[in-house]
Amino acid sequence: MINKVKKTKADKALPFEIAGQVVAPGERLQFDVPTANLYTNSPLNMPVEVIHGRHPGPVLLICAAIHGDELNGVEIIRRMRSFRQLSRLQGTLVLVPVVNLFGFIHQSRYLPDRRDLNRCFPGSERGSIASRVAFKFFNEIVRRCTHIIDLHTAAVNRDNLPQVRAALDEPGVRKMAEGFSIPVIINSGLIESSLRCEAGKLGIPVITYEAGEALRLFESSIVTGVRGIVSVMRTLGMLPSIRITTVRAEPYIARSSSWFRAPVDGIFRPLSKLGTRVRKGDTLGVISEPFGSEESILVAEADGIIICVSNLPLVNEGEALFHIAKFERAGAVEEEIAAHVSNIKGDRLYEIETVPVTVNGATRGSNDDK
Ligand SMILES: [Zn+2]
Repeated sequence: MINKVKKTKADKALPFEIAGQVVAPGERLQFDVPTANLYTNSPLNMPVEVIHGRHPGPVLLICAAIHGDELNGVEIIRRMRSFRQLSRLQGTLVLVPVVNLFGFIHQSRYLPDRRDLNRCFPGSERGSIASRVAFKFFNEIVRRCTHIIDLHTAAVNRDNLPQVRAALDEPGVRKMAEGFSIPVIINSGLIESSLRCEAGKLGIPVITYEAGEALRLFESSIVTGVRGIVSVMRTLGMLPSIRITTVRAEPYIARSSSWFRAPVDGIFRPLSKLGTRVRKGDTLGVISEPFGSEESILVAEADGIIICVSNLPLVNEGEALFHIAKFERAGAVEEEIAAHVSNIKGDRLYEIETVPVTVNGATRGSNDDK
C-alpha cells in the first residue's frame, strides 16, 4: 500500500466519506456524530475532524479519551490539528479527541452504566449506553480507517512512562510501533472487546500510546505523543520523510513486565523514579505505619525499568505500586529514556512551561529572561 502511495503521488484523492459526511480532497471538516442520549434527552455528540489530503494514502484515526478522564491525548490531538505540514498530507487524518464524552464531562473513566468503554467494542445497537457509544464509534468511524493510534494515560493516581503498547505480531503493527520512535515498547497481548483487539480483527493495525496520569496534562508526554504520531505518519508515507537531525530513539521492546505490590498497609513513599533502572535488591520505596514507628523497606525482586508508579501515598496491602518492565539491555534503555527526556524538553513544541506571557501589552516567551 505504501509503495502504491509513492507511485501515485501525482494522483488526486477521491472525496472521503465518513459518518454520512463527504470531505473533498485538500479540505478539512468538523462535525458531530450523535452517539446516544442522556436521560435528560440531551444528545451525546462525538466531535470529529477529518483532514483529507489532496493525494491518496492511508486513513489514520487518532482517538483519545475512550477513558473519559485521560486528558493528555485530547491535548495531543489539539496540537496535531495545527501541525503545518498537514497541508502536504497524503491520505486522510481522522481526529476524535474525546470518544467518551460523558466520562470527559464527569471527569470519569466510565459511562453512566459503569462500563469501561474499552471493554465494549465492537458494541451493540441494543446494549446499554457504553455498548451503544462503542457501536456508533466502531461502525461510523473505526471501520472507515486503515490504521489507528489510540491515546491513553495511566489511571487516576498512577503515572505512566511514555510507552507504546502493541501486539507486535499482528500485521502492520510492528511498523507503526517502531515508527513512533519512542524508547519503550511493550509487546502487549490483546484484551477481548478492547478497541485494539476488535479493530485488529478487521485487519486494522492499532497501537496504543500510554503516557502520564489521568486528569493531568504532562507536557513531556504530550510532546512525545505529537512527535510520535508525526513520526508514524512519515513511516506510513502520509507526510514527507525528513532528514533526522535529532537523536532518533532506538525503541526497546520489553520481554515482560510485572507489578510490585504493597507487602503491608500504610503510608507509601517512593524512592525510585519513573523511567529509572532498578536491580534486584534495590530499595524501591518505604511504607511506614501512620501512627507508629514501624517501616517496611520495599526491595526490588527483579531487574527492570519502572514504567508506572503509584502517586497515592495511602496504600493497602496488595496494591500495585510499581510496574517494572524487563529488557534485554536495561542499562541501554535507561540511557535512551534520559536522552529522550532532555531531547523533548529542547523541542520547539515544548509549550506549557515556556508559554508566551504578556507584559504591558508586549508578548515575549517566558524563557527570554533566562
Ligand atoms: Zn485508558
